[in-house]
Amino acid sequence: MKKIIVLLLIAATAFSCKTTQLAAAKDNSDPTKYMDLITEKDLKTMLYVVASDEMEGRETGSPGQKKAGLYMIEQYKNNGISFPKGATDYYQHIPAAFLNAKYKENLPDSENIWAYIEGSEKPDEVLVISAHYDHVGIKKGEIYNGADDDGSGTVAVMEIAKAFAKAKKDGHGPKRSILFLHVTGEEHGLHGSRYYSENPLFPIANTITDVNIDMIGRRDVEHANTNNYVYVIGADRLSSDLHNLVVAQNEKYTKVDLDFKFNDPKDPNHFYERSDHYNFAKHGIPAVFFFNGVHADYHGKGDEPEKIEYDALTKRTKLAFVVAWDLANRAERPVVDKPLK
Ligand SMILES: [Zn+2]
Repeated sequence: MKKIIVLLLIAATAFSCKTTQLAAAKDNSDPTKYMDLITEKDLKTMLYVVASDEMEGRETGSPGQKKAGLYMIEQYKNNGISFPKGATDYYQHIPAAFLNAKYKENLPDSENIWAYIEGSEKPDEVLVISAHYDHVGIKKGEIYNGADDDGSGTVAVMEIAKAFAKAKKDGHGPKRSILFLHVTGEEHGLHGSRYYSENPLFPIANTITDVNIDMIGRRDVEHANTNNYVYVIGADRLSSDLHNLVVAQNEKYTKVDLDFKFNDPKDPNHFYERSDHYNFAKHGIPAVFFFNGVHADYHGKGDEPEKIEYDALTKRTKLAFVVAWDLANRAERPVVDKPLK
């Protein structure tokens, strides 16, 4: 009798250990450990390169922009993050004819840059995290470095990718796939994101959300006394789930003041239509745009890395990360419950 009880106990213990281990391997409920890999130091180091004079203001199709692109690709390689499945390298090439068709400009060929982490459970469902890496180049001999616009979003996406890659290495990889998309031609009319949305690598129907980051390193005059805020635009336009999860993740992990002022469809600035997420939203893909508002150096030569508030950049990057984490791991993708207008 005694012997049997002992054996049963051993068996029960072994069984419970095994189930605990299995549960632990799949438990992605807490992103804190990986969120904390996002640091001011990393973001600053990368931004001082991306927004340096060497990149000549990253004008669409220019040698400076291509140089910035090579630096970004090098970071992805260093972090063991590959280009997407179905692509042959880190570039989505965009012909000049496409870039110039809409406004009759004279732009050369250019490239979106992409990197990818495959999901462990629903690899066919894809989350896009986007930021434009082009800026306005050189005007009258002055280099416009675009540290905030959108060097800040560029390095944020790279840092978020690094955190997801480390999570994957530890057995906590995202359940859905993530496409890290650095688009070109934004300043000329959102061309790179429009090209992607018309030539998507993954079906639009399988693209669950776009998290877009454009200018998150500064503050506007409305927030002269604090940088602990971010404008959230577009989250509820197509999906109540997306809005709710942004609010919930922020409440839980980052506690940034979420400002919805520019989300008002009647707001005269119409920021909702003015950055790359819009090219996803117009195809019915839920999208959220994180933004710090405009400031005196917006599209000016003074948009320099020295003027970035790295604590704010870090906190907003962490917010975008925990939102992405939830999107990539939650049981159901955000439901589209609002009409496409
Ligand atoms: Zn921008």
